[in-house]
Amino acid sequence: MADTIFDVVVLGGGPAGYTCAIRASQYGLKAALIDSNDRLGGTCLLWGCIPTKAMLFSAELWDHLKHAERYGIDGVTPKLNWKGVLARKDDVISRHVKGLDFLMKKNKISTYKGFGKLTGPAKDGVFTVDVKLADGKSGTVKAKKVVLATGSDARVLPGYKPDDTILTNYEILKISEAPKSLVVIGSGAVGVEFASIFKSFGAEVTVLEVLPRVVPVEDEEISKELLRQFKKRGIDVSLSIKDTKVEKNKDGALVTWIDSNGKPQSKQAEKVLMAVGRAPRTEGIGLETTSIKPDRGFVMTNEWMETTEPGIYAIGDIVGGLPQLAHVGSMAGLVVAAKLAGKYAKPVNRTRIPGCTYCDPQIASVGLTEAQAKEKGFEVKVGKFPFVGNSKATILDAHDGFVKVVSDAKHGEILGVHIIGPYATEIIAEAVTAIELEATIEEMMFTIHAHPTVAEALLDGFSSVEGMAVNV
Ligand SMILES: Cc1cc2nc3c(=O)[nH]c(=O)nc-3n(C[C@H](O)[C@H](O)[C@H](O)COP(=O)(O)OP(=O)(O)OC[C@H]3O[C@@H](n4cnc5c(N)ncnc54)[C@H](O)[C@@H]3O)c2cc1C
Repeated sequence: MADTIFDVVVLGGGPAGYTCAIRASQYGLKAALIDSNDRLGGTCLLWGCIPTKAMLFSAELWDHLKHAERYGIDGVTPKLNWKGVLARKDDVISRHVKGLDFLMKKNKISTYKGFGKLTGPAKDGVFTVDVKLADGKSGTVKAKKVVLATGSDARVLPGYKPDDTILTNYEILKISEAPKSLVVIGSGAVGVEFASIFKSFGAEVTVLEVLPRVVPVEDEEISKELLRQFKKRGIDVSLSIKDTKVEKNKDGALVTWIDSNGKPQSKQAEKVLMAVGRAPRTEGIGLETTSIKPDRGFVMTNEWMETTEPGIYAIGDIVGGLPQLAHVGSMAGLVVAAKLAGKYAKPVNRTRIPGCTYCDPQIASVGLTEAQAKEKGFEVKVGKFPFVGNSKATILDAHDGFVKVVSDAKHGEILGVHIIGPYATEIIAEAVTAIELEATIEEMMFTIHAHPTVAEALLDGFSSVEGMAVNV
Protein backbone atom coordinates (compact mmCIF):
# COMPACT_ATOMS: atom_id res chain seq x y z
CA MET A 1 0.00 0.00 0.00
CA ALA A 2 2.78 2.43 0.89
CA ASP A 3 5.03 1.94 -2.16
CA THR A 4 3.24 4.07 -4.76
CA ILE A 5 3.46 7.84 -4.60
CA PHE A 6 0.23 9.07 -6.17
CA ASP A 7 -0.12 12.47 -7.84
CA VAL A 8 -3.25 13.01 -5.79
CA VAL A 9 -5.18 11.23 -3.06
CA VAL A 10 -8.82 12.15 -2.50
CA LEU A 11 -10.39 11.60 0.92
CA GLY A 12 -14.10 10.87 0.44
CA GLY A 13 -15.93 9.13 -2.38
CA GLY A 14 -19.06 11.29 -2.59
CA PRO A 15 -19.89 13.36 -5.70
CA ALA A 16 -17.16 15.89 -4.94
CA GLY A 17 -14.44 13.29 -4.33
CA TYR A 18 -15.19 10.71 -7.02
CA THR A 19 -15.66 13.41 -9.69
CA CYS A 20 -12.31 14.94 -8.78
CA ALA A 21 -10.54 11.55 -8.87
CA ILE A 22 -12.05 10.62 -12.24
CA ARG A 23 -11.15 13.94 -13.88
CA ALA A 24 -7.64 13.84 -12.39
CA SER A 25 -7.16 10.43 -13.93
CA GLN A 26 -8.57 11.63 -17.28
CA TYR A 27 -5.83 14.28 -17.24
CA GLY A 28 -3.25 11.52 -16.81
CA LEU A 29 -2.63 11.95 -13.07
CA LYS A 30 -2.17 8.90 -10.87
CA ALA A 31 -5.10 9.11 -8.44
CA ALA A 32 -6.16 7.30 -5.28
CA LEU A 33 -9.56 7.52 -3.56
CA ILE A 34 -10.21 6.64 0.08
CA ASP A 35 -13.75 6.22 1.40
CA SER A 36 -14.81 5.06 4.84
CA ASN A 37 -18.12 3.61 3.66
CA ASP A 38 -18.54 0.13 2.18
CA ARG A 39 -20.10 1.71 -0.93
CA LEU A 40 -18.94 4.72 -2.95
CA GLY A 41 -21.33 7.59 -3.66
CA GLY A 42 -21.51 9.46 -0.36
CA THR A 43 -24.60 11.17 1.00
CA CYS A 44 -25.76 12.10 -2.48
CA LEU A 45 -26.06 8.59 -3.86
CA LEU A 46 -26.78 6.64 -0.68
CA TRP A 47 -28.81 8.98 1.55
CA GLY A 48 -29.57 12.19 -0.33
CA CYS A 49 -30.18 13.34 -3.89
CA ILE A 50 -30.74 9.98 -5.55
CA PRO A 51 -32.89 8.02 -3.04
CA THR A 52 -35.13 11.04 -2.38
CA LYS A 53 -35.71 11.61 -6.08
CA ALA A 54 -36.43 7.91 -6.64
CA MET A 55 -39.07 8.12 -3.89
CA LEU A 56 -40.41 11.39 -5.30
CA PHE A 57 -40.85 9.69 -8.67
CA SER A 58 -42.91 6.93 -7.01
CA ALA A 59 -44.92 9.64 -5.20
CA GLU A 60 -45.54 11.47 -8.47
CA LEU A 61 -46.71 8.28 -10.21
CA TRP A 62 -48.94 7.50 -7.24
CA ASP A 63 -50.50 10.99 -7.46
CA HIS A 64 -51.23 10.47 -11.17
CA LEU A 65 -52.59 6.95 -10.68
CA LYS A 66 -54.98 8.18 -7.98
CA HIS A 67 -56.57 10.37 -10.67
CA ALA A 68 -56.08 8.06 -13.67
CA GLU A 69 -59.63 8.67 -14.89
CA ARG A 70 -58.73 12.33 -15.41
CA TYR A 71 -56.39 11.20 -18.20
CA GLY A 72 -58.93 8.86 -19.79
CA ILE A 73 -57.75 5.70 -18.04
CA ASP A 74 -60.48 3.91 -16.11
CA GLY A 75 -60.37 0.97 -13.73
CA VAL A 76 -57.12 1.88 -11.95
CA THR A 77 -57.26 1.28 -8.21
CA PRO A 78 -53.71 1.85 -7.00
CA LYS A 79 -52.48 0.17 -3.83
CA LEU A 80 -49.35 1.41 -2.13
CA ASN A 81 -46.63 -1.19 -1.63
CA TRP A 82 -44.17 0.64 0.65
CA LYS A 83 -41.61 -2.18 0.55
CA GLY A 84 -41.76 -1.91 -3.24
CA VAL A 85 -41.12 1.84 -3.10
CA LEU A 86 -38.05 1.23 -0.91
CA ALA A 87 -36.88 -1.66 -3.08
CA ARG A 88 -37.00 0.47 -6.24
CA LYS A 89 -35.10 3.25 -4.51
CA ASP A 90 -32.47 0.72 -3.37
CA ASP A 91 -32.23 -0.71 -6.87
CA VAL A 92 -31.53 2.75 -8.33
CA ILE A 93 -28.80 3.25 -5.72
CA SER A 94 -27.22 -0.18 -6.31
CA ARG A 95 -27.02 0.35 -10.04
CA HIS A 96 -25.15 3.60 -9.58
CA VAL A 97 -22.87 2.20 -6.86
CA LYS A 98 -21.90 -0.51 -9.37
CA GLY A 99 -21.48 2.21 -11.98
CA LEU A 100 -19.03 4.05 -9.72
CA ASP A 101 -17.03 0.86 -9.06
CA PHE A 102 -16.83 0.40 -12.83
CA LEU A 103 -15.69 4.02 -13.33
CA MET A 104 -12.93 3.59 -10.73
CA LYS A 105 -11.62 0.55 -12.60
CA LYS A 106 -12.03 2.17 -16.02
CA ASN A 107 -10.03 5.20 -14.88
CA LYS A 108 -7.45 3.08 -13.02
CA ILE A 109 -8.12 4.84 -9.72
CA SER A 110 -6.79 2.95 -6.70
CA THR A 111 -9.62 2.83 -4.17
CA TYR A 112 -9.25 2.10 -0.49
CA LYS A 113 -12.17 1.31 1.83
CA GLY A 114 -11.17 2.92 5.07
CA PHE A 115 -11.04 6.06 7.19
CA GLY A 116 -8.33 8.45 6.07
CA LYS A 117 -6.45 10.82 8.34
CA LEU A 118 -3.88 13.49 7.52
CA THR A 119 -0.57 13.12 9.32
CA GLY A 120 0.78 16.60 8.67
CA PRO A 121 2.24 18.83 5.97
CA ALA A 122 4.06 17.34 2.99
CA LYS A 123 7.58 16.05 3.66
CA ASP A 124 9.88 16.41 0.66
CA GLY A 125 6.76 17.16 -1.40
CA VAL A 126 4.89 14.03 -0.32
CA PHE A 127 1.92 13.72 2.04
CA THR A 128 1.23 10.62 4.08
CA VAL A 129 -2.38 9.77 4.83
CA ASP A 130 -3.08 7.12 7.44
CA VAL A 131 -5.90 4.76 6.53
CA LYS A 132 -7.78 2.65 9.03
CA LEU A 133 -9.08 -0.08 6.74
CA ALA A 134 -12.50 -1.67 7.04
CA ASP A 135 -10.95 -5.03 8.00
CA GLY A 136 -9.35 -3.42 11.08
CA LYS A 137 -5.89 -3.23 9.54
CA SER A 138 -4.22 0.06 8.84
CA GLY A 139 -1.91 1.42 6.21
CA THR A 140 -0.72 4.60 4.56
CA VAL A 141 -1.27 6.26 1.19
CA LYS A 142 1.37 8.67 -0.10
CA ALA A 143 0.61 11.43 -2.57
CA LYS A 144 1.95 14.76 -3.83
CA LYS A 145 -1.41 16.48 -3.29
CA VAL A 146 -4.40 15.80 -1.05
CA VAL A 147 -8.04 16.67 -1.70
CA LEU A 148 -10.39 16.63 1.29
CA ALA A 149 -13.98 15.72 0.37
CA THR A 150 -15.36 14.12 3.52
CA GLY A 151 -18.88 15.60 3.23
CA SER A 152 -21.43 16.35 5.91
CA ASP A 153 -23.82 14.82 8.44
CA ALA A 154 -27.37 15.82 9.32
CA ARG A 155 -27.72 18.21 12.25
CA VAL A 156 -30.42 17.63 14.87
CA LEU A 157 -31.85 20.10 17.36
CA PRO A 158 -29.63 20.34 20.48
CA GLY A 159 -30.41 17.67 23.06
CA TYR A 160 -31.90 15.11 20.62
CA LYS A 161 -30.55 11.97 19.03
CA PRO A 162 -31.98 10.30 15.93
CA ASP A 163 -33.78 7.00 16.53
CA ASP A 164 -36.84 5.30 15.04
CA THR A 165 -39.18 8.21 15.90
CA ILE A 166 -36.93 11.25 15.60
CA LEU A 167 -35.48 10.93 12.15
CA THR A 168 -32.90 12.57 9.90
CA ASN A 169 -32.57 11.97 6.17
CA TYR A 170 -30.68 8.78 7.05
CA GLU A 171 -33.37 7.05 9.13
CA ILE A 172 -36.37 8.26 7.11
CA LEU A 173 -35.09 6.61 3.94
CA LYS A 174 -35.42 3.15 5.48
CA ILE A 175 -38.55 3.32 7.66
CA SER A 176 -40.48 0.08 7.37
CA GLU A 177 -43.91 1.70 6.89
CA ALA A 178 -44.99 5.03 5.44
CA PRO A 179 -46.04 7.10 8.50
CA LYS A 180 -49.65 8.25 8.85
CA SER A 181 -48.50 11.51 10.35
CA LEU A 182 -45.22 13.40 10.13
CA VAL A 183 -43.91 16.63 11.60
CA VAL A 184 -41.06 18.11 9.57
CA ILE A 185 -38.85 20.57 11.44
CA GLY A 186 -37.20 22.87 8.91
CA SER A 187 -38.48 24.00 5.52
CA GLY A 188 -35.27 24.07 3.48
CA ALA A 189 -34.90 21.84 0.43
CA VAL A 190 -34.59 18.59 2.42
CA GLY A 191 -37.58 19.37 4.67
CA VAL A 192 -40.02 20.34 1.93
CA GLU A 193 -38.99 17.42 -0.29
CA PHE A 194 -39.82 14.87 2.42
CA ALA A 195 -43.00 16.81 3.33
CA SER A 196 -44.06 16.56 -0.30
CA ILE A 197 -43.22 12.84 -0.64
CA PHE A 198 -45.07 11.76 2.50
CA LYS A 199 -48.08 13.99 1.79
CA SER A 200 -48.41 12.24 -1.57
CA PHE A 201 -48.26 8.87 0.22
CA GLY A 202 -51.18 9.93 2.42
CA ALA A 203 -49.57 11.20 5.63
CA GLU A 204 -50.89 14.14 7.58
CA VAL A 205 -47.90 16.49 7.29
CA THR A 206 -46.99 19.52 9.42
CA VAL A 207 -44.01 21.72 8.52
CA LEU A 208 -42.45 23.94 11.21
CA GLU A 209 -40.11 26.79 10.31
CA VAL A 210 -38.41 29.36 12.57
CA LEU A 211 -38.03 31.88 9.75
CA PRO A 212 -40.98 33.87 8.36
CA ARG A 213 -41.10 31.91 5.09
CA VAL A 214 -40.67 28.43 3.61
CA VAL A 215 -37.59 27.71 1.44
CA PRO A 216 -36.01 30.83 2.96
CA VAL A 217 -33.07 31.06 0.55
CA GLU A 218 -35.38 31.44 -2.44
CA ASP A 219 -36.95 34.63 -3.86
CA GLU A 220 -39.79 35.83 -1.61
CA GLU A 221 -42.42 35.32 -4.29
CA ILE A 222 -41.33 31.69 -4.70
CA SER A 223 -41.73 31.13 -0.94
CA LYS A 224 -45.22 32.64 -1.06
CA GLU A 225 -46.25 30.46 -4.00
CA LEU A 226 -44.92 27.28 -2.39
CA LEU A 227 -46.80 28.09 0.80
CA ARG A 228 -49.99 28.63 -1.21
CA GLN A 229 -49.56 25.36 -3.08
CA PHE A 230 -48.58 23.35 0.02
CA LYS A 231 -51.71 24.66 1.76
CA LYS A 232 -53.75 23.67 -1.29
CA ARG A 233 -52.29 20.16 -1.01
CA GLY A 234 -53.30 20.07 2.67
CA ILE A 235 -49.80 20.43 4.14
CA ASP A 236 -50.01 22.36 7.39
CA VAL A 237 -47.25 24.99 7.66
CA SER A 238 -46.33 27.10 10.71
CA LEU A 239 -43.85 29.94 10.19
CA SER A 240 -41.89 32.20 12.59
CA ILE A 241 -42.16 29.59 15.31
CA LYS A 242 -39.85 29.14 18.31
CA ASP A 243 -39.08 26.85 21.25
CA THR A 244 -39.70 23.59 19.41
CA LYS A 245 -39.67 20.57 21.69
CA VAL A 246 -40.16 16.90 20.91
CA GLU A 247 -41.38 14.48 23.56
CA LYS A 248 -41.52 10.85 22.58
CA ASN A 249 -44.50 8.69 23.64
CA LYS A 250 -45.97 5.30 22.79
CA ASP A 251 -47.66 6.60 19.63
CA GLY A 252 -44.67 8.52 18.30
CA ALA A 253 -43.96 11.99 19.62
CA LEU A 254 -45.66 15.14 20.78
CA VAL A 255 -44.11 18.19 19.17
CA THR A 256 -44.74 21.52 20.89
CA TRP A 257 -43.81 25.02 19.79
CA ILE A 258 -44.71 28.69 20.21
CA ASP A 259 -46.42 30.06 17.12
CA SER A 260 -45.92 33.47 15.46
CA ASN A 261 -48.59 34.98 17.75
CA GLY A 262 -46.79 33.75 20.85
CA LYS A 263 -49.36 30.99 21.47
CA PRO A 264 -48.29 27.48 22.48
CA GLN A 265 -49.14 24.83 19.86
CA SER A 266 -48.72 21.07 19.68
CA LYS A 267 -48.97 18.19 17.26
CA GLN A 268 -48.90 14.47 17.93
CA ALA A 269 -47.23 12.55 15.10
CA GLU A 270 -45.98 9.05 14.36
CA LYS A 271 -42.61 10.39 13.14
CA VAL A 272 -40.65 13.61 13.40
CA LEU A 273 -38.11 14.57 10.75
CA MET A 274 -35.38 16.99 11.73
CA ALA A 275 -34.24 18.79 8.59
CA VAL A 276 -32.27 21.58 10.21
CA GLY A 277 -29.11 21.68 8.13
CA ARG A 278 -25.88 19.74 7.65
CA ALA A 279 -22.67 19.83 9.67
CA PRO A 280 -19.29 19.44 7.92
CA ARG A 281 -17.59 16.09 8.61
CA THR A 282 -14.12 17.27 9.53
CA GLU A 283 -13.56 15.71 12.93
CA GLY A 284 -10.85 13.09 13.22
CA ILE A 285 -9.35 13.70 9.79
CA GLY A 286 -6.15 15.19 11.16
CA LEU A 287 -6.67 18.87 10.34
CA GLU A 288 -4.87 19.73 13.59
CA THR A 289 -1.66 18.25 12.15
CA THR A 290 -1.73 20.95 9.46
CA SER A 291 -2.15 24.73 9.34
CA ILE A 292 -5.87 24.37 8.49
CA LYS A 293 -8.05 26.02 11.15
CA PRO A 294 -11.67 25.01 10.63
CA ASP A 295 -14.35 27.68 11.03
CA ARG A 296 -17.26 26.07 12.91
CA GLY A 297 -16.11 22.80 11.38
CA PHE A 298 -15.94 24.12 7.81
CA VAL A 299 -12.68 24.21 5.85
CA MET A 300 -12.08 27.59 4.23
CA THR A 301 -10.48 27.76 0.80
CA ASN A 302 -9.57 30.30 -1.86
CA GLU A 303 -11.34 30.32 -5.24
CA TRP A 304 -9.16 27.41 -6.43
CA MET A 305 -10.25 25.34 -3.43
CA GLU A 306 -6.78 25.56 -1.87
CA THR A 307 -6.67 25.44 1.92
CA THR A 308 -4.13 27.30 4.02
CA GLU A 309 -1.90 24.18 3.96
CA PRO A 310 0.07 24.17 0.69
CA GLY A 311 -0.84 21.10 -1.39
CA ILE A 312 -4.10 20.36 0.45
CA TYR A 313 -7.39 21.23 -1.26
CA ALA A 314 -10.98 20.96 -0.01
CA ILE A 315 -14.19 20.45 -1.99
CA GLY A 316 -17.86 19.63 -1.37
CA ASP A 317 -19.98 20.01 1.75
CA ILE A 318 -17.00 20.61 4.07
CA VAL A 319 -16.15 23.92 2.38
CA GLY A 320 -17.36 27.09 4.11
CA GLY A 321 -19.16 29.80 2.15
CA LEU A 322 -20.55 27.63 -0.64
CA PRO A 323 -23.97 25.95 -0.81
CA GLN A 324 -23.94 22.28 0.23
CA LEU A 325 -25.05 20.83 -3.08
CA ALA A 326 -23.77 17.85 -5.04
CA HIS A 327 -23.17 19.82 -8.23
CA VAL A 328 -21.19 22.48 -6.34
CA GLY A 329 -18.92 19.78 -4.89
CA SER A 330 -18.48 17.97 -8.18
CA MET A 331 -17.69 21.20 -10.09
CA ALA A 332 -15.18 22.16 -7.40
CA GLY A 333 -13.66 18.68 -7.93
CA LEU A 334 -13.31 19.35 -11.65
CA VAL A 335 -11.69 22.73 -10.93
CA VAL A 336 -9.12 21.17 -8.57
CA ALA A 337 -8.31 18.33 -10.98
CA ALA A 338 -7.71 20.82 -13.80
CA LYS A 339 -5.52 22.97 -11.58
CA LEU A 340 -3.46 19.97 -10.47
CA ALA A 341 -2.97 18.95 -14.10
CA GLY A 342 -2.00 22.49 -15.08
CA LYS A 343 -5.01 22.79 -17.41
CA TYR A 344 -7.55 25.55 -18.03
CA ALA A 345 -10.01 25.98 -15.16
CA LYS A 346 -12.61 28.49 -14.07
CA PRO A 347 -13.44 28.93 -10.37
CA VAL A 348 -16.95 28.17 -9.06
CA ASN A 349 -18.92 31.41 -9.26
CA ARG A 350 -21.44 31.65 -6.44
CA THR A 351 -23.95 33.64 -8.50
CA ARG A 352 -24.04 30.98 -11.22
CA ILE A 353 -24.97 28.01 -9.07
CA PRO A 354 -28.42 26.55 -9.69
CA GLY A 355 -30.40 25.55 -6.62
CA CYS A 356 -33.13 22.94 -7.07
CA THR A 357 -35.84 21.74 -4.71
CA TYR A 358 -37.67 18.68 -5.97
CA CYS A 359 -40.91 18.96 -4.02
CA ASP A 360 -44.26 19.19 -5.78
CA PRO A 361 -44.29 21.87 -7.20
CA GLN A 362 -40.62 21.93 -8.15
CA ILE A 363 -38.49 24.98 -7.47
CA ALA A 364 -35.31 26.02 -9.26
CA SER A 365 -33.32 29.20 -9.27
CA VAL A 366 -30.01 30.75 -10.24
CA GLY A 367 -28.46 34.14 -9.56
CA LEU A 368 -29.82 36.99 -7.48
CA THR A 369 -33.28 37.22 -5.97
CA GLU A 370 -35.16 40.48 -6.57
CA ALA A 371 -34.32 41.65 -3.03
CA GLN A 372 -30.61 40.77 -3.39
CA ALA A 373 -30.39 42.59 -6.74
CA LYS A 374 -31.93 45.72 -5.21
CA GLU A 375 -29.61 45.48 -2.20
CA LYS A 376 -26.64 45.36 -4.57
CA GLY A 377 -27.81 48.63 -6.10
CA PHE A 378 -29.00 47.39 -9.49
CA GLU A 379 -31.78 49.22 -11.25
CA VAL A 380 -33.97 46.14 -11.28
CA LYS A 381 -36.45 45.18 -13.98
CA VAL A 382 -38.55 42.10 -13.31
CA GLY A 383 -40.64 39.90 -15.60
CA LYS A 384 -43.02 37.16 -14.53
CA PHE A 385 -44.76 34.55 -16.66
CA PRO A 386 -47.38 32.19 -15.20
CA PHE A 387 -47.40 28.52 -16.28
CA VAL A 388 -51.11 28.86 -16.95
CA GLY A 389 -50.12 30.34 -20.34
CA ASN A 390 -47.86 27.39 -21.23
CA SER A 391 -49.59 24.66 -23.24
CA LYS A 392 -47.23 21.84 -22.17
CA ALA A 393 -47.92 22.70 -18.50
CA THR A 394 -51.65 22.27 -19.19
CA ILE A 395 -50.98 18.93 -20.92
CA LEU A 396 -49.08 17.88 -17.78
CA ASP A 397 -51.96 19.09 -15.60
CA ALA A 398 -49.48 21.33 -13.76
CA HIS A 399 -50.20 24.91 -14.62
CA ASP A 400 -49.68 26.44 -11.15
CA GLY A 401 -46.53 28.51 -10.65
CA PHE A 402 -44.43 30.91 -12.69
CA VAL A 403 -41.07 31.93 -14.11
CA LYS A 404 -39.63 35.12 -12.65
CA VAL A 405 -36.72 36.89 -14.30
CA VAL A 406 -34.70 39.53 -12.47
CA SER A 407 -32.67 41.77 -14.78
CA ASP A 408 -30.61 44.91 -14.81
CA ALA A 409 -32.66 47.66 -16.50
CA LYS A 410 -29.58 49.47 -17.81
CA HIS A 411 -27.91 46.74 -19.83
CA GLY A 412 -30.49 43.95 -20.00
CA GLU A 413 -28.17 41.64 -18.00
CA ILE A 414 -29.93 38.59 -16.56
CA LEU A 415 -29.30 38.73 -12.81
CA GLY A 416 -31.49 35.90 -11.63
CA VAL A 417 -34.13 33.41 -12.74
CA HIS A 418 -36.60 31.84 -10.30
CA ILE A 419 -39.00 29.10 -11.27
CA ILE A 420 -41.76 27.29 -9.41
CA GLY A 421 -43.75 24.78 -11.41
CA PRO A 422 -43.42 21.75 -13.71
CA TYR A 423 -39.91 20.55 -14.64
CA ALA A 424 -38.43 23.65 -12.98
CA THR A 425 -35.35 21.62 -12.03
CA GLU A 426 -34.77 20.62 -15.66
CA ILE A 427 -35.42 23.92 -17.43
CA ILE A 428 -33.25 25.94 -15.03
CA ALA A 429 -30.25 24.66 -17.04
CA GLU A 430 -31.12 27.12 -19.80
CA ALA A 431 -31.07 30.04 -17.37
CA VAL A 432 -27.73 28.90 -15.92
CA THR A 433 -26.23 28.72 -19.41
CA ALA A 434 -27.67 32.13 -20.32
CA ILE A 435 -26.14 33.70 -17.21
CA GLU A 436 -22.83 31.84 -17.67
CA LEU A 437 -22.56 33.09 -21.26
CA GLU A 438 -23.72 36.55 -20.22
CA ALA A 439 -26.67 36.56 -22.61
CA THR A 440 -28.94 39.59 -22.44
CA ILE A 441 -32.73 39.60 -22.14
CA GLU A 442 -32.94 40.68 -25.79
CA GLU A 443 -30.77 37.76 -26.95
CA MET A 444 -32.89 35.28 -25.00
CA MET A 445 -36.06 36.82 -26.50
CA PHE A 446 -34.75 35.78 -29.92
CA THR A 447 -33.60 32.29 -28.91
CA ILE A 448 -35.84 29.65 -30.48
CA HIS A 449 -37.55 27.32 -28.01
CA ALA A 450 -39.17 24.09 -29.24
CA HIS A 451 -42.95 23.85 -29.01
CA PRO A 452 -44.75 22.57 -27.03
CA THR A 453 -42.30 22.49 -24.14
CA VAL A 454 -42.26 23.69 -20.57
CA ALA A 455 -39.01 25.48 -21.51
CA GLU A 456 -41.07 27.90 -23.61
CA ALA A 457 -42.15 29.42 -20.31
CA LEU A 458 -38.58 30.77 -20.12
CA LEU A 459 -38.92 32.44 -23.53
CA ASP A 460 -42.10 34.08 -22.27
CA GLY A 461 -40.39 34.79 -18.94
CA PHE A 462 -37.50 36.65 -20.59
CA SER A 463 -39.96 38.47 -22.88
CA SER A 464 -42.11 39.46 -19.90
CA VAL A 465 -39.23 41.65 -18.65
CA GLU A 466 -40.03 43.90 -21.63
CA GLY A 467 -43.78 43.44 -21.10
CA MET A 468 -43.90 41.28 -24.22
CA ALA A 469 -44.72 37.72 -23.16
CA VAL A 470 -46.85 36.39 -26.01
CA ASN A 471 -48.88 33.78 -24.15
CA VAL A 472 -50.41 35.76 -21.34
C1 LIG B 1 -31.99 14.26 1.81
C2 LIG B 1 -30.99 14.99 0.98
C3 LIG B 1 -31.28 15.30 -0.32
C4 LIG B 1 -30.37 15.99 -1.10
N1 LIG B 1 -30.71 16.28 -2.37
C5 LIG B 1 -29.84 16.97 -3.14
C6 LIG B 1 -30.16 17.27 -4.48
O1 LIG B 1 -31.22 16.93 -4.98
N2 LIG B 1 -29.25 17.94 -5.23
C7 LIG B 1 -28.04 18.34 -4.71
O2 LIG B 1 -27.25 18.96 -5.41
N3 LIG B 1 -27.72 18.06 -3.42
C8 LIG B 1 -28.58 17.38 -2.65
N4 LIG B 1 -28.23 17.07 -1.36
C9 LIG B 1 -26.91 17.48 -0.87
C10 LIG B 1 -25.83 16.50 -1.37
O3 LIG B 1 -26.15 15.20 -0.96
C11 LIG B 1 -24.48 16.91 -0.84
O4 LIG B 1 -24.24 18.26 -1.18
C12 LIG B 1 -23.37 16.05 -1.44
O5 LIG B 1 -23.56 14.69 -1.15
C13 LIG B 1 -22.02 16.50 -0.92
O6 LIG B 1 -21.04 15.78 -1.54
P1 LIG B 1 -19.62 15.51 -0.87
O7 LIG B 1 -18.87 14.67 -1.84
O8 LIG B 1 -19.05 16.77 -0.40
O9 LIG B 1 -19.93 14.68 0.45
P2 LIG B 1 -20.70 13.32 0.72
O10 LIG B 1 -21.65 13.01 -0.34
O11 LIG B 1 -21.21 13.43 2.10
O12 LIG B 1 -19.56 12.23 0.66
C14 LIG B 1 -18.49 12.23 1.55
C15 LIG B 1 -17.85 10.87 1.55
O13 LIG B 1 -16.68 10.93 2.37
C16 LIG B 1 -16.55 9.74 3.10
N5 LIG B 1 -15.70 10.05 4.27
C17 LIG B 1 -15.98 10.84 5.31
N6 LIG B 1 -14.91 10.93 6.14
C18 LIG B 1 -13.93 10.18 5.57
C19 LIG B 1 -12.59 9.89 5.91
N7 LIG B 1 -12.02 10.41 7.00
N8 LIG B 1 -11.90 9.06 5.11
C20 LIG B 1 -12.45 8.54 4.01
N9 LIG B 1 -13.71 8.79 3.64
C21 LIG B 1 -14.43 9.61 4.40
C22 LIG B 1 -17.97 9.35 3.43
O14 LIG B 1 -18.09 7.97 3.66
C23 LIG B 1 -18.71 9.77 2.14
O15 LIG B 1 -18.79 8.71 1.23
C24 LIG B 1 -29.12 16.36 -0.56
C25 LIG B 1 -28.80 16.03 0.75
C26 LIG B 1 -29.72 15.36 1.52
C27 LIG B 1 -29.36 15.01 2.92
